[in-house]
Amino acid sequence: MDVFRNLFLACSQSRWLRDRATRYAFVRRAVCRFMPGETADDALAAALALQQRSIGTVFTHLGENITDPGEADSVASHYLQVLDQIREMHLNTEVSVKLTQLGLDLSPELCYGNLDRVVTHAGSESLVWIDMEASNYVDVTLELARRARTAHPNVGVCIQAYLYRTAADLEKLIAMGMAVRLVKGAYKEPANVAFPHKADVDENYFALARKLVSEPARRAGVRAGLATHDLKLIRRIIDYAEAQSLSKSAFEFQMLYGIQREEQYRLAHEGWKSVVLIAYGSYWFPWYMRRLAERPANAWFVLRNLFAT
Ligand SMILES: Cc1cc2nc3c(=O)[nH]c(=O)nc-3n(C[C@H](O)[C@H](O)[C@H](O)COP(=O)(O)OP(=O)(O)OC[C@H]3O[C@@H](n4cnc5c(N)ncnc54)[C@H](O)[C@@H]3O)c2cc1C
Repeated sequence: MDVFRNLFLACSQSRWLRDRATRYAFVRRAVCRFMPGETADDALAAALALQQRSIGTVFTHLGENITDPGEADSVASHYLQVLDQIREMHLNTEVSVKLTQLGLDLSPELCYGNLDRVVTHAGSESLVWIDMEASNYVDVTLELARRARTAHPNVGVCIQAYLYRTAADLEKLIAMGMAVRLVKGAYKEPANVAFPHKADVDENYFALARKLVSEPARRAGVRAGLATHDLKLIRRIIDYAEAQSLSKSAFEFQMLYGIQREEQYRLAHEGWKSVVLIAYGSYWFPWYMRRLAERPANAWFVLRNLFAT
């Protein structure tokens, strides 16, 4: 399975493949499983349907590693526009941004300016999540997230359980009352920075999740987003929460659009906070390859679509 994971992660970084694969209708049909569509209107319609099932949403406009300042500025402007549409439609929807899409590779200062525009426009009622990208971006991402959080109350950041450093990072984020989304991690990382074995990542996730919902974290005002589709882990977290008599609103489960849909509905139905991240946009290839890497069996959907009429 590691062979396939590595293969899809390598594909996610190939510009050559991205330029070609996205032209094929069967690849485009396969990606629909994880995306309601390429436009903000598609995402808004999906959010409305999920809201009717008591499920909150987070939007992310796909794109990363932008190298043109004008493009980074347009991405920020796009988020401002979407935030207005979310407000007009009274949706329980937040946004999640990638710093490399806001110009991080060009300059952290330019990126911070774009981030600040989005966070300011979102207003104190709506949190802006910051995605975590590959390990070489972790320091600068946390630095800009802390800077934004010092200036605004409505900022949260993603951390990855596969990194050895994350336990120490989490302590600091808890101390400042930052909202945190905990994930396992989606990038190809070497063994000197990340646990190479899945069982260790899962155990670390559970240990970090316990810290994130602990009494000191709740006292500091931390909002805890536990982002995973791992049913065994979700069961362990619920058992732990019940044993600790935590209220069902003490944390939230977050999943990706189209993955473990029944579980998303079940959690919401049982009164747990359930949130779905909806990705949309035309730059979906690297993101989709990371979804295939998480579950290589998803590649069958691509092949099935090749033969579908
Ligand atoms: C809301 C949200 C935000 C995220 N943000 C980031 C981020 O900012 N940075 C980052 O590095 N990663 C991010 N991720 C991805 C994350 O790091 C994992 O790669 C991804 O969630 C898969 O791990 P898992 O916890 O679901 O567990 P896994 O052990 O990988 O999966 C558990 C089970 O879930 C199902 N499943 C998992 N993934 C898929 C899939 N793609 N297709 C079909 N079934 C699947 C399978 O049944 C699998 O057995 C995010 C994930 C979510 C849910």
